[in-house]
Amino acid sequence: MRHIKRELKIGNTAIGGNNPVLVQSMLNVRSSDIEGNVKQAVELEKAGCQIVRVSVPTLEDVKLVEAIKNEISIPLVADIHFDYKVALACADAGIDKIRINPGNIGDDEKVKAVVKACSAKNIPIRIGVNAGSLEKNILAKYGKPTPEALCESAMYHIGLLERYDFNDIAVSIKSSNVNNMIQAYTLLDSKCNYPLHLGVTEAGTYRMGVIKSAMGIGSLLLNGIGDTIRVSLTDAPVREIEAGFDILRAAGHEVAGPEIISCPTCGRTRLDVAAIANQVEAGLKGINKNIKVAVMGCVVNGPGEAREADIGIACGADNAAMFKKGVKIKTYSGNFIEEFIEDIKICAEEL
Ligand code: SF4
Repeated sequence: MRHIKRELKIGNTAIGGNNPVLVQSMLNVRSSDIEGNVKQAVELEKAGCQIVRVSVPTLEDVKLVEAIKNEISIPLVADIHFDYKVALACADAGIDKIRINPGNIGDDEKVKAVVKACSAKNIPIRIGVNAGSLEKNILAKYGKPTPEALCESAMYHIGLLERYDFNDIAVSIKSSNVNNMIQAYTLLDSKCNYPLHLGVTEAGTYRMGVIKSAMGIGSLLLNGIGDTIRVSLTDAPVREIEAGFDILRAAGHEVAGPEIISCPTCGRTRLDVAAIANQVEAGLKGINKNIKVAVMGCVVNGPGEAREADIGIACGADNAAMFKKGVKIKTYSGNFIEEFIEDIKICAEEL
């Protein structure tokens, strides 16, 4: 069951509470390239990204905020390290959320100034603890970035904001070690009521990055933990979005769009089921209904194994049986893929 956390407003959307788990990503265009950043943010929004983060390293880069916000409607988060003046400038420029660790920005007066600016404009702050940048004293105490060390660091940063009665907080506690990451979030979840942003950091290139993220983020989601997610990949950010939604879907969350169920094929298979499944998947792009579509390799086991599907096919030697919820409706012959896609669209309308 979902662990319900404090609700947080981020621009025109909300996280925590009973709100859906949102998928976010981060721009990776050079900060000086305003046009490139805007273009990538627009692409991400089109791909379904629900929150987007941008690095704002210096005061000079704050102009990214207005430029990007003018072209997108999803919330924009500024990623800031060390310089509290950048945080103040981003708040002035209309940012929706700030990611900053209050322990890294200097004395109390600087923390107080950031809290004041964010409170005045209802801007939440995400504390982003990372195994690679733990406080020296915490690292010395635990010897390495253990889940307890990560959690202690998060609680330290949370405390710095709570001191000034600031509670519009989200927290992430990322590690590149999947097991540590799961344990750290589980521990933090038991200690605080703030929404948690999940991610495995430095997860790697596409294939391993998706596997590690699916394990780490997926395990936590299955245990009811998590309010936003990011699949960090050394790849195009737009690929993080599709992977994020696939992880959410696999963890049983409602995700708009078709889910393809297909069998691994075996000696009974006669048609090229992999090609058929890929064509069906491509033909359904843009459909927003939450529909389960099965593409199975044989009529012996196909309809039974895909009984949960709303609609499916079980392929024969040169034809295919179409079934709905495990009940055969008709038989296709010849080149049937277009007809099947049309039937799926009709079925989706009826859902
Ligand atoms: S559905 Fe049929 S073809 Fe596919 S794996 Fe099962 S038995 Fe083999």
